[in-house]
Amino acid sequence: MSASPTLVAQAAAHLTDCRLCPFHCGELRAQAAGVCRVGVASFVASEMLHHGEEEILRPAHAIFFSGCTAKCSFCTAARFAFRPTYGIPVTAEMLAQRIVQRQTEGARSVCFIGGDPAPHIPLIVETLTLLGNRRTIPAVFNSNFYLTAAALDLLDGVIDIYLPDLKFGPAVGHAGCGETLGAMPDYWAVVTGCIDCMLARGRRIIVRHLLMPGHFECCTAPVLRWLAERPALEVSLLTQYLAPSHVRGPLAGSLKKLEIEQAKTLAAELGLRLVR
Ligand code: SF4
Repeated sequence: MSASPTLVAQAAAHLTDCRLCPFHCGELRAQAAGVCRVGVASFVASEMLHHGEEEILRPAHAIFFSGCTAKCSFCTAARFAFRPTYGIPVTAEMLAQRIVQRQTEGARSVCFIGGDPAPHIPLIVETLTLLGNRRTIPAVFNSNFYLTAAALDLLDGVIDIYLPDLKFGPAVGHAGCGETLGAMPDYWAVVTGCIDCMLARGRRIIVRHLLMPGHFECCTAPVLRWLAERPALEVSLLTQYLAPSHVRGPLAGSLKKLEIEQAKTLAAELGLRLVR
């Protein structure tokens, strides 16, 4: 997919009036004073040929942007997710050059990751437009999918595969885990709404679900049941949960074998289209 100069300009408008996620920080973005604290420049914490992504994507050229729209208390990427100026400031020219290089080194996809890539949509759109048909591998947007309709419209012009991370279940009579652990108001409605929107447009979507210790009933089970109602979705179950040392409480533990089995059994019973 390639984009037009108009799309680049539309995306760039969010650098000074940001509406890319439901926090709608507006003009605060220009002073790096929005919720994610990403400013006009995008910083890349690291980039590499990554062999740990889903089979159809790997080796992936993984680009890890600094900064995130969520505040997950158990984030293993906190080093750069909560430090938006961690790493190297990059331009579209720099990124395009590196994508071409990684492509020649054997990358089978280019994956925009974070933190979260949402604040960096202007740079992603500009980079992919600049690349045009020099890019021969699919562009993948790997995100918490806490996005707005405006962000989805921009992505739709350049992205080939979506990798939303539907981590938390819905709120049931109290704030849900998306709100309490991830600090994303209205998490379930926003993220499932964004997935449904791209599904309705016929886009390829691989939904990731990270199993978390003690979160089968509140998160895994309702997430898997919701996915089962949408057979066009591919599903990737992530079982590598690792608690950072600062985490306390139930999430400080590790995933039990039983919890992994329980999730796999339910996924099989529901007939989910699992990818490895
Ligand atoms: S991407 Fe960042 S600056 Fe933009 S609305 Fe979201 S939190 Fe605010």
